[in-house]
Amino acid sequence: MNVLAEMQSYGHERVAFHQDAKTGLKAIIAIHSTVLGNALGGTRRWAYATETDALFDVLRLSEGMTYKAAASGLAMGGAKSVIIMPHAGLQPTEAEARAMGRFVETFIGKYIAAEDVGVSPQYCDWMALESRHVMGGNTVSHGGDPSPYTALGCFNSMKACLAHTGRKVDFSTLTVAIQGCGATGFRLAKLLRQAGAAVMVTDVHVPTMKRAVEELGCVALGNDKNLFEEKVDILAPCALGGVLDARTIPTLNCGIICGTANNQLRHPNEDGDALAKRGILYSPDFVANAGGLIRLAGLYLGMTEGEIDEKIVEIERTTAAVLKQSNGGSTGAAAVAFAKAKIAAGAGTAKNQMAGVGCGTGCGCKS
Ligand code: NAD
Repeated sequence: MNVLAEMQSYGHERVAFHQDAKTGLKAIIAIHSTVLGNALGGTRRWAYATETDALFDVLRLSEGMTYKAAASGLAMGGAKSVIIMPHAGLQPTEAEARAMGRFVETFIGKYIAAEDVGVSPQYCDWMALESRHVMGGNTVSHGGDPSPYTALGCFNSMKACLAHTGRKVDFSTLTVAIQGCGATGFRLAKLLRQAGAAVMVTDVHVPTMKRAVEELGCVALGNDKNLFEEKVDILAPCALGGVLDARTIPTLNCGIICGTANNQLRHPNEDGDALAKRGILYSPDFVANAGGLIRLAGLYLGMTEGEIDEKIVEIERTTAAVLKQSNGGSTGAAAVAFAKAKIAAGAGTAKNQMAGVGCGTGCGCKS
């Protein structure tokens, strides 16, 4: 693969590869854009089939972070990192996390790491033992687990989808199917159940699915195939990306798609158009799942708790604005245009990169 050509086509500023002989860590950090400010993005720890898969994942995820921050009105850029596990099921260690922290530190604050799939607040705190530019932990770094805020933002986005389709914003009459009831999916299921919705769930990890059934009264679906064919009001992808494609879109039996997963469209242009043609309303992932970023970036930027909460409420209005702007076409394309317009308007005003402002993590640095 021609890495520089890929970077050019996605518009990345910097991609760095790292291996640590002592711990065996293999990782990539991708900074897509710092036009609006330093770039905050989670670290994903995953057993990729190939290094090319890992590179594509980090390129797409980091591009999405740029749009997520911009669409949410945050003075932040977009970045992401991935740790390539040698095989699935390998337990995280402090040594590995600290090696990753040292890699993060080489960016002297332009990149701020946090959690993503496979990385916990504890892992963030281990990384933070080596770098001041980590958020999402509870002791060494701060911010904690962002997933409750991601779930709440997604719930708010669902309200805008219902209103856009002319439906009453009343969850008690709705059935929602959730793929993946991990950190965000479980919390989303809880909010939906509290609002009176019937919730169906799948998870490849059976105990996780069982917990949603036993604690929340969700209904377990046999597998993902059932989930994508089941007649429901809302489908909420809350596991991994690439689930909406030429194979699944024709089988869908839902009116709205709104979930927490990143990069839900396997091929953003084609799949966004296909959903519009089928009349299925797709809440663009980086708009619907921005709550966690708003939480951590808000703390980083020195916003108050009240300001952060208000920005998470605002996800409903942002979703509504993007859906309106799509004018019946691809909502994914409309969201990218919405974010790009914000980047163009904010270019040159990156306040959190100004000398003396510091990284916002309370470390006192000037990066
Ligand atoms: P998680 O690892 O806690 O949960 C994901 C769940 O999905 C797991 O329980 C896993 O077993 C399950 N899963 C994986 N593949 C599946 C499949 N094919 N079918 C059914 N279940 C499957 O992760 P999370 O933090 O909930 O994140 C989920 C998604 O949301 C990811 O794409 C992540 O990037 C995105 N996201 C998370 C946050 C956050 O605050 N945690 C913020 C923004 C976006």
